[in-house]
Amino acid sequence: MGFKPEIIEVTDEGARYVERGHLFYLDKWISMPGAPHVDSWRLNSGIHNGPECMVCHKVVCDHCNKDFRTEVCELVCGVCLTAGSHKMDCPNR
Ligand SMILES: [Zn+2]
Ligand SMILES: [Zn+2]
Ligand SMILES: [Zn+2]
Repeated sequence: MGFKPEIIEVTDEGARYVERGHLFYLDKWISMPGAPHVDSWRLNSGIHNGPECMVCHKVVCDHCNKDFRTEVCELVCGVCLTAGSHKMDCPNR
């Protein structure tokens, strides 16, 4: 059993585990109010399955890369923490 980090932020369609981390698509069938569930089957290939980031669209196998959830998403701005590679001290550039 691998370590599963807690979700820290939820939007209508996605959730992330760390600040500036990937925003993963939610599983709409399983998610309930107050109990978001990341869709781990965006990648579905043989024994490999895993979630997809709705910002950078990276998909990684849950089994082969367990650190994916806590990785920083390069397309999330470090200043406003939303999608778009703004930076340079943002206010959405
Ligand atoms: Zn991402
Ligand atoms: Zn794999
Ligand atoms: Zn920004």
